[in-house]
Amino acid sequence: MLKLIRGYVLHTLKNPFFEEEALEGFEDGALLIEKGKILELGDFSQVSKRYPDADVIYYKDAFILPGFVDCHVHYPQVPIIGAMGLRLLEWLDTRTLPEEARLADSDYARTQARVFLGLLARNGTTTALVFGAHFKEAMHVFFDEADKSGLRITSGLVLGDRLLKDELHTDPDKAYAENLELIRRWHNHGRLRYAVTPRFSLSCSDELLAVCGRLLKEQPDLFFTSHINEQIEEIETVLELFEDSSDYLSTYEKHGLVGKHSVFAHNVHVSDSELGRLAKAESSIAHCASSNMFIGSGLFDMKRHLEHQVQFALGSDVGGGTGFSLFKEGLMAYQGQMLQLAKGFPLTATQLLYLATLAGAKALHLDQTVGNFAVGKEADFMIVKAPDKSTLKQTLEHSPSAEASLAALFTLAREDSLLDVFVSGESVFV
Ligand SMILES: [Zn+2]
Repeated sequence: MLKLIRGYVLHTLKNPFFEEEALEGFEDGALLIEKGKILELGDFSQVSKRYPDADVIYYKDAFILPGFVDCHVHYPQVPIIGAMGLRLLEWLDTRTLPEEARLADSDYARTQARVFLGLLARNGTTTALVFGAHFKEAMHVFFDEADKSGLRITSGLVLGDRLLKDELHTDPDKAYAENLELIRRWHNHGRLRYAVTPRFSLSCSDELLAVCGRLLKEQPDLFFTSHINEQIEEIETVLELFEDSSDYLSTYEKHGLVGKHSVFAHNVHVSDSELGRLAKAESSIAHCASSNMFIGSGLFDMKRHLEHQVQFALGSDVGGGTGFSLFKEGLMAYQGQMLQLAKGFPLTATQLLYLATLAGAKALHLDQTVGNFAVGKEADFMIVKAPDKSTLKQTLEHSPSAEASLAALFTLAREDSLLDVFVSGESVFV
Protein backbone atom coordinates (compact mmCIF):
# COMPACT_ATOMS: atom_id res chain seq x y z
CA MET A 1 0.00 0.00 0.00
CA LEU A 2 1.22 3.51 -0.85
CA LYS A 3 1.37 6.08 1.95
CA LEU A 4 1.69 9.77 1.25
CA ILE A 5 3.02 11.71 4.24
CA ARG A 6 2.17 15.39 3.83
CA GLY A 7 3.89 18.26 5.68
CA TYR A 8 6.86 20.62 5.52
CA VAL A 9 9.68 18.34 4.34
CA LEU A 10 13.32 19.30 5.02
CA HIS A 11 16.48 17.25 4.50
CA THR A 12 20.09 17.58 3.36
CA LEU A 13 21.06 16.23 -0.05
CA LYS A 14 24.83 16.48 0.44
CA ASN A 15 27.58 17.81 2.69
CA PRO A 16 26.94 21.54 3.34
CA PHE A 17 30.46 22.05 4.72
CA PHE A 18 31.89 21.55 1.25
CA GLU A 19 28.97 21.82 -1.21
CA GLU A 20 26.42 24.53 -2.06
CA GLU A 21 22.64 24.13 -1.93
CA ALA A 22 22.66 21.11 0.33
CA LEU A 23 19.25 21.84 1.93
CA GLU A 24 16.12 20.74 0.09
CA GLY A 25 12.72 21.83 1.38
CA PHE A 26 9.10 21.47 0.30
CA GLU A 27 6.79 23.71 2.32
CA ASP A 28 3.69 21.78 1.29
CA GLY A 29 5.63 18.61 0.63
CA ALA A 30 5.06 14.89 0.49
CA LEU A 31 7.01 11.71 1.10
CA LEU A 32 5.63 8.75 -0.83
CA ILE A 33 6.33 5.48 0.97
CA GLU A 34 5.97 1.93 -0.24
CA LYS A 35 6.97 -1.10 1.84
CA GLY A 36 8.93 1.13 4.23
CA LYS A 37 11.00 2.78 1.50
CA ILE A 38 10.91 6.22 -0.08
CA LEU A 39 9.41 6.00 -3.56
CA GLU A 40 9.14 9.69 -4.27
CA LEU A 41 9.56 13.13 -2.68
CA GLY A 42 8.31 16.52 -3.82
CA ASP A 43 5.50 19.08 -3.71
CA PHE A 44 2.27 17.56 -2.42
CA SER A 45 0.22 18.86 -5.35
CA GLN A 46 2.42 17.10 -7.89
CA VAL A 47 3.08 13.82 -6.07
CA SER A 48 -0.59 13.41 -5.09
CA LYS A 49 -1.65 13.91 -8.71
CA ARG A 50 0.60 11.10 -9.87
CA TYR A 51 -0.56 8.77 -7.08
CA PRO A 52 -4.26 9.56 -6.55
CA ASP A 53 -4.87 6.23 -4.77
CA ALA A 54 -2.19 6.73 -2.11
CA ASP A 55 -3.35 6.91 1.49
CA VAL A 56 -2.69 10.55 2.55
CA ILE A 57 -1.61 11.29 6.12
CA TYR A 58 -1.59 15.05 6.59
CA TYR A 59 0.49 16.57 9.35
CA LYS A 60 -0.72 20.14 9.19
CA ASP A 61 1.72 22.81 10.41
CA ALA A 62 4.31 20.12 11.06
CA PHE A 63 7.80 19.38 9.79
CA ILE A 64 8.96 16.06 8.39
CA LEU A 65 12.69 15.54 9.01
CA PRO A 66 14.94 12.48 8.59
CA GLY A 67 15.39 10.46 11.79
CA PHE A 68 18.36 11.62 13.86
CA VAL A 69 21.56 9.58 14.15
CA ASP A 70 23.20 9.73 17.59
CA CYS A 71 26.82 8.59 17.33
CA HIS A 72 27.61 8.42 21.04
CA VAL A 73 25.20 7.69 23.89
CA HIS A 74 25.44 5.44 26.99
CA TYR A 75 22.61 3.01 27.71
CA PRO A 76 23.20 2.72 31.50
CA GLN A 77 23.48 6.45 32.20
CA VAL A 78 19.95 7.88 32.10
CA PRO A 79 19.73 8.06 35.95
CA ILE A 80 22.83 10.24 36.22
CA ILE A 81 21.98 12.96 33.69
CA GLY A 82 22.60 16.30 35.37
CA ALA A 83 25.26 15.22 37.89
CA MET A 84 26.64 18.70 38.46
CA GLY A 85 29.87 19.91 40.00
CA LEU A 86 32.24 17.15 38.81
CA ARG A 87 35.01 16.78 36.24
CA LEU A 88 35.46 13.62 34.19
CA LEU A 89 37.48 11.27 36.43
CA GLU A 90 35.60 12.34 39.58
CA TRP A 91 32.26 12.15 37.71
CA LEU A 92 33.10 8.58 36.70
CA ASP A 93 34.14 7.52 40.22
CA THR A 94 31.36 9.09 42.25
CA ARG A 95 28.28 8.90 40.03
CA THR A 96 28.73 7.00 36.78
CA LEU A 97 30.55 3.79 37.64
CA PRO A 98 28.41 3.04 40.75
CA GLU A 99 25.29 3.36 38.54
CA GLU A 100 26.85 1.19 35.82
CA ALA A 101 27.59 -1.49 38.45
CA ARG A 102 23.83 -1.81 39.09
CA LEU A 103 23.43 -3.39 35.64
CA ALA A 104 24.82 -6.64 37.05
CA ASP A 105 21.14 -7.20 37.90
CA SER A 106 19.62 -8.25 34.56
CA ASP A 107 16.08 -7.27 35.54
CA TYR A 108 17.26 -3.77 36.34
CA ALA A 109 19.25 -3.77 33.07
CA ARG A 110 16.13 -4.69 31.09
CA THR A 111 14.12 -1.90 32.69
CA GLN A 112 16.88 0.59 31.91
CA ALA A 113 17.18 -0.70 28.33
CA ARG A 114 13.47 -0.10 27.74
CA VAL A 115 13.61 3.37 29.26
CA PHE A 116 16.70 4.27 27.24
CA LEU A 117 15.38 3.04 23.88
CA GLY A 118 12.02 4.72 24.48
CA LEU A 119 13.75 8.03 25.15
CA LEU A 120 15.86 7.79 21.99
CA ALA A 121 12.67 7.34 19.95
CA ARG A 122 10.80 10.11 21.79
CA ASN A 123 13.60 12.47 20.80
CA GLY A 124 13.53 11.60 17.10
CA THR A 125 16.64 9.40 17.15
CA THR A 126 16.10 6.39 14.90
CA THR A 127 19.73 5.24 14.59
CA ALA A 128 22.37 5.17 17.33
CA LEU A 129 25.84 3.95 18.19
CA VAL A 130 25.32 2.99 21.82
CA PHE A 131 27.96 2.50 24.49
CA GLY A 132 26.73 -0.61 26.27
CA ALA A 133 27.16 -2.04 29.76
CA HIS A 134 30.06 -3.95 31.36
CA PHE A 135 27.96 -7.11 31.87
CA LYS A 136 27.27 -9.73 29.22
CA GLU A 137 23.72 -10.45 30.39
CA ALA A 138 22.93 -6.73 30.46
CA MET A 139 23.97 -6.65 26.79
CA HIS A 140 21.84 -9.66 25.86
CA VAL A 141 18.77 -7.97 27.35
CA PHE A 142 19.72 -4.66 25.74
CA PHE A 143 20.01 -6.16 22.25
CA ASP A 144 16.77 -8.08 22.82
CA GLU A 145 14.94 -4.86 23.71
CA ALA A 146 16.64 -2.94 20.88
CA ASP A 147 15.46 -5.60 18.43
CA LYS A 148 11.88 -5.20 19.68
CA SER A 149 12.10 -1.38 19.57
CA GLY A 150 12.63 -1.29 15.80
CA LEU A 151 15.46 1.24 16.11
CA ARG A 152 18.76 0.84 14.22
CA ILE A 153 21.23 0.13 17.01
CA THR A 154 24.95 -0.60 16.91
CA SER A 155 26.33 -1.46 20.34
CA GLY A 156 28.70 -3.66 22.31
CA LEU A 157 29.89 -4.89 25.70
CA VAL A 158 32.01 -2.22 27.42
CA LEU A 159 35.49 -3.45 28.38
CA GLY A 160 37.95 -2.42 31.06
CA ASP A 161 40.43 -4.33 33.22
CA ARG A 162 41.90 -1.60 35.43
CA LEU A 163 41.17 1.65 37.28
CA LEU A 164 37.38 1.20 37.28
CA LYS A 165 35.40 -0.53 40.04
CA ASP A 166 36.41 -4.18 40.67
CA GLU A 167 32.99 -5.51 39.73
CA LEU A 168 33.23 -3.82 36.31
CA HIS A 169 36.61 -5.36 35.43
CA THR A 170 37.03 -8.18 32.95
CA ASP A 171 40.14 -10.00 31.72
CA PRO A 172 41.35 -10.59 28.16
CA ASP A 173 40.18 -14.24 27.87
CA LYS A 174 36.77 -13.52 29.35
CA ALA A 175 36.38 -10.43 27.16
CA TYR A 176 37.15 -12.43 24.03
CA ALA A 177 34.72 -15.24 24.86
CA GLU A 178 31.88 -12.89 25.88
CA ASN A 179 32.31 -10.72 22.79
CA LEU A 180 32.22 -13.77 20.53
CA GLU A 181 29.01 -14.98 22.14
CA LEU A 182 27.33 -11.58 21.74
CA ILE A 183 28.59 -11.10 18.18
CA ARG A 184 27.28 -14.50 17.08
CA ARG A 185 23.90 -13.83 18.61
CA TRP A 186 23.32 -10.19 17.64
CA HIS A 187 25.63 -8.86 14.91
CA ASN A 188 23.58 -8.21 11.73
CA HIS A 189 20.46 -9.54 13.46
CA GLY A 190 17.64 -7.40 12.01
CA ARG A 191 18.68 -3.77 12.42
CA LEU A 192 21.32 -4.53 15.05
CA ARG A 193 25.08 -4.51 14.64
CA TYR A 194 27.97 -5.07 17.01
CA ALA A 195 30.68 -2.60 18.05
CA VAL A 196 33.79 -3.66 19.94
CA THR A 197 33.83 -1.15 22.83
CA PRO A 198 36.78 -0.70 25.21
CA ARG A 199 35.73 2.04 27.66
CA PHE A 200 38.89 4.09 27.01
CA SER A 201 42.54 3.15 26.92
CA LEU A 202 42.92 4.52 30.45
CA SER A 203 40.90 1.55 31.72
CA CYS A 204 42.36 -1.07 29.35
CA SER A 205 45.67 -2.94 29.44
CA ASP A 206 47.55 -3.60 26.20
CA GLU A 207 46.44 -7.23 26.46
CA LEU A 208 42.77 -6.23 26.53
CA LEU A 209 43.16 -3.81 23.62
CA ALA A 210 44.92 -6.61 21.73
CA VAL A 211 41.78 -8.74 22.18
CA CYS A 212 39.76 -5.90 20.60
CA GLY A 213 42.15 -5.88 17.65
CA ARG A 214 41.88 -9.64 17.29
CA LEU A 215 38.07 -9.48 17.15
CA LEU A 216 38.15 -6.77 14.46
CA LYS A 217 40.72 -8.68 12.44
CA GLU A 218 38.70 -11.88 12.59
CA GLN A 219 35.50 -10.10 11.58
CA PRO A 220 36.21 -6.88 9.65
CA ASP A 221 32.55 -5.84 9.33
CA LEU A 222 32.33 -5.22 13.09
CA PHE A 223 32.33 -1.64 14.34
CA PHE A 224 34.62 -0.10 16.93
CA THR A 225 33.99 2.72 19.35
CA SER A 226 35.72 4.29 22.33
CA HIS A 227 36.58 7.64 23.93
CA ILE A 228 39.55 9.83 23.05
CA ASN A 229 41.17 13.14 24.04
CA GLU A 230 38.33 14.28 26.30
CA GLN A 231 40.08 16.03 29.21
CA ILE A 232 43.67 17.10 29.86
CA GLU A 233 44.02 15.09 33.12
CA GLU A 234 42.71 11.99 31.34
CA ILE A 235 45.21 12.39 28.47
CA GLU A 236 48.10 12.84 30.90
CA THR A 237 47.13 9.66 32.76
CA VAL A 238 46.87 7.70 29.50
CA LEU A 239 50.36 8.82 28.45
CA GLU A 240 51.75 7.76 31.87
CA LEU A 241 50.13 4.33 31.51
CA PHE A 242 51.36 3.77 27.94
CA GLU A 243 54.98 4.88 28.19
CA ASP A 244 55.78 3.87 24.61
CA SER A 245 52.90 5.89 23.11
CA SER A 246 53.43 9.40 21.79
CA ASP A 247 49.74 10.37 21.98
CA TYR A 248 46.30 9.03 22.86
CA LEU A 249 45.45 7.84 19.35
CA SER A 250 48.55 5.68 19.15
CA THR A 251 47.31 3.59 22.12
CA TYR A 252 44.51 2.43 19.81
CA GLU A 253 46.55 2.36 16.58
CA LYS A 254 49.01 -0.06 18.12
CA HIS A 255 46.27 -2.69 18.21
CA GLY A 256 44.66 -2.04 14.82
CA LEU A 257 41.65 -0.19 16.26
CA VAL A 258 41.73 2.93 14.08
CA GLY A 259 39.95 2.29 10.80
CA LYS A 260 36.92 3.04 8.66
CA HIS A 261 34.55 1.40 11.13
CA SER A 262 35.91 3.31 14.14
CA VAL A 263 34.02 6.12 15.87
CA PHE A 264 35.82 8.01 18.65
CA ALA A 265 33.91 10.23 21.05
CA HIS A 266 35.06 13.78 21.94
CA ASN A 267 38.55 14.48 20.51
CA VAL A 268 38.58 17.89 22.17
CA HIS A 269 42.34 18.14 22.85
CA VAL A 270 43.87 16.72 19.68
CA SER A 271 47.20 17.20 17.91
CA ASP A 272 47.61 17.89 14.19
CA SER A 273 49.40 14.57 13.85
CA GLU A 274 46.41 12.72 15.33
CA LEU A 275 43.97 14.59 13.06
CA GLY A 276 46.05 13.67 10.01
CA ARG A 277 46.10 10.00 11.01
CA LEU A 278 42.35 9.93 11.79
CA ALA A 279 41.62 11.40 8.34
CA LYS A 280 43.89 8.91 6.62
CA ALA A 281 42.27 6.01 8.46
CA GLU A 282 38.80 7.39 7.56
CA SER A 283 37.69 7.10 11.19
CA SER A 284 34.91 9.34 12.52
CA ILE A 285 34.50 11.56 15.56
CA ALA A 286 31.34 11.84 17.64
CA HIS A 287 31.20 15.49 18.67
CA CYS A 288 29.37 15.75 22.00
CA ALA A 289 29.06 19.47 22.62
CA SER A 290 26.71 19.46 25.60
CA SER A 291 28.80 16.85 27.44
CA ASN A 292 32.03 18.74 26.71
CA MET A 293 30.52 21.85 28.24
CA PHE A 294 28.75 20.11 31.15
CA ILE A 295 31.80 18.13 32.38
CA GLY A 296 34.06 21.05 31.50
CA SER A 297 36.15 19.21 28.90
CA GLY A 298 36.55 22.15 26.53
CA LEU A 299 35.35 23.42 23.17
CA PHE A 300 35.61 21.26 20.05
CA ASP A 301 38.06 22.50 17.41
CA MET A 302 35.76 22.06 14.42
CA LYS A 303 37.88 24.20 12.10
CA ARG A 304 40.88 21.92 12.46
CA HIS A 305 38.74 18.82 11.95
CA LEU A 306 37.41 20.39 8.73
CA GLU A 307 40.89 21.45 7.57
CA HIS A 308 42.15 17.91 8.03
CA GLN A 309 38.92 16.49 6.56
CA VAL A 310 38.23 14.32 9.59
CA GLN A 311 34.59 13.18 9.49
CA PHE A 312 32.46 14.11 12.48
CA ALA A 313 28.82 13.88 13.50
CA LEU A 314 26.85 14.48 16.72
CA GLY A 315 26.61 12.44 19.90
CA SER A 316 24.37 13.29 22.86
CA ASP A 317 26.72 11.46 25.29
CA VAL A 318 23.92 10.85 27.80
CA GLY A 319 24.66 10.96 30.76
CA GLY A 320 27.66 13.34 30.49
CA GLY A 321 25.46 15.13 27.96
CA THR A 322 22.39 16.97 29.10
CA GLY A 323 19.68 14.98 27.32
CA PHE A 324 18.78 12.96 24.22
CA SER A 325 17.66 15.75 21.91
CA LEU A 326 19.93 16.22 18.91
CA PHE A 327 18.13 19.53 18.38
CA LYS A 328 19.65 20.70 21.64
CA GLU A 329 22.96 19.03 20.81
CA GLY A 330 23.01 21.02 17.58
CA LEU A 331 22.35 24.24 19.49
CA MET A 332 25.21 23.44 21.89
CA ALA A 333 27.53 22.68 18.97
CA TYR A 334 26.58 26.03 17.45
CA GLN A 335 27.17 27.91 20.72
CA GLY A 336 30.46 26.11 21.29
CA GLN A 337 31.73 27.41 17.97
CA MET A 338 30.42 30.97 18.46
CA LEU A 339 32.18 31.18 21.84
CA GLN A 340 35.53 30.58 20.18
CA LEU A 341 35.19 33.78 18.13
CA ALA A 342 37.64 33.72 15.19
CA LYS A 343 38.88 30.23 16.13
CA GLY A 344 35.36 28.81 15.91
CA PHE A 345 33.39 27.72 12.88
CA PRO A 346 30.10 29.66 12.47
CA LEU A 347 27.62 26.86 11.83
CA THR A 348 24.45 27.20 9.76
CA ALA A 349 21.16 25.44 10.52
CA THR A 350 21.63 23.34 7.38
CA GLN A 351 25.00 22.17 8.67
CA LEU A 352 23.39 21.25 12.00
CA LEU A 353 20.73 19.18 10.23
CA TYR A 354 23.45 17.46 8.21
CA LEU A 355 25.49 16.70 11.36
CA ALA A 356 22.41 15.26 13.11
CA THR A 357 21.38 13.05 10.17
CA LEU A 358 23.45 12.30 7.05
CA ALA A 359 26.87 12.82 8.69
CA GLY A 360 25.95 10.32 11.41
CA ALA A 361 24.70 7.85 8.83
CA LYS A 362 28.05 8.17 7.02
CA ALA A 363 30.02 7.63 10.22
CA LEU A 364 28.06 4.42 10.80
CA HIS A 365 28.23 3.35 7.12
CA LEU A 366 24.45 3.51 6.86
CA ASP A 367 24.24 6.41 4.39
CA GLN A 368 23.08 4.09 1.61
CA THR A 369 20.13 3.18 3.84
CA VAL A 370 19.18 6.31 5.86
CA GLY A 371 20.28 9.91 6.59
CA ASN A 372 18.06 11.77 4.12
CA PHE A 373 15.03 11.24 1.87
CA ALA A 374 16.82 10.07 -1.27
CA VAL A 375 14.56 7.81 -3.33
CA GLY A 376 15.11 4.16 -2.46
CA LYS A 377 16.27 4.76 1.13
CA GLU A 378 14.39 3.44 4.15
CA ALA A 379 11.66 5.80 5.37
CA ASP A 380 13.10 6.85 8.76
CA PHE A 381 11.57 10.17 9.74
CA MET A 382 10.08 12.27 12.52
CA ILE A 383 7.10 14.60 12.70
CA VAL A 384 7.89 17.83 14.52
CA LYS A 385 5.15 20.24 15.50
CA ALA A 386 5.40 23.23 17.79
CA PRO A 387 3.17 22.75 20.86
CA ASP A 388 0.29 25.22 21.16
CA LYS A 389 1.26 28.51 22.76
CA SER A 390 4.96 27.51 22.77
CA THR A 391 7.81 29.91 22.07
CA LEU A 392 8.68 27.74 19.06
CA LYS A 393 5.21 28.25 17.60
CA GLN A 394 5.47 32.01 17.93
CA THR A 395 8.92 32.10 16.35
CA LEU A 396 7.98 29.83 13.44
CA GLU A 397 4.98 32.00 12.57
CA HIS A 398 7.39 34.78 11.63
CA SER A 399 9.99 32.61 9.88
CA PRO A 400 11.15 34.12 6.57
CA SER A 401 12.79 30.99 5.11
CA ALA A 402 13.42 27.25 5.38
CA GLU A 403 16.86 27.95 6.86
CA ALA A 404 15.31 30.24 9.50
CA SER A 405 12.65 27.64 10.37
CA LEU A 406 15.34 25.01 10.78
CA ALA A 407 17.35 27.36 13.00
CA ALA A 408 14.25 27.90 15.15
CA LEU A 409 13.80 24.13 15.46
CA PHE A 410 17.40 23.57 16.62
CA THR A 411 17.07 26.42 19.09
CA LEU A 412 13.64 25.64 20.54
CA ALA A 413 12.30 22.20 19.54
CA ARG A 414 12.65 19.47 22.19
CA GLU A 415 10.98 16.21 23.24
CA ASP A 416 7.59 17.89 23.55
CA SER A 417 7.65 18.95 19.89
CA LEU A 418 7.78 15.38 18.54
CA LEU A 419 4.43 14.03 17.34
CA ASP A 420 5.62 10.71 15.95
CA VAL A 421 8.79 8.92 14.82
CA PHE A 422 9.10 6.21 12.15
CA VAL A 423 11.64 3.60 11.11
CA SER A 424 11.08 2.02 7.68
CA GLY A 425 7.62 3.61 7.68
CA GLU A 426 6.54 2.04 11.01
CA SER A 427 6.03 4.10 14.16
CA VAL A 428 8.60 3.48 16.90
CA PHE A 429 7.20 6.19 19.18
CA VAL A 430 6.40 4.91 22.68
ZN1 LIG B 1 30.85 8.77 26.50
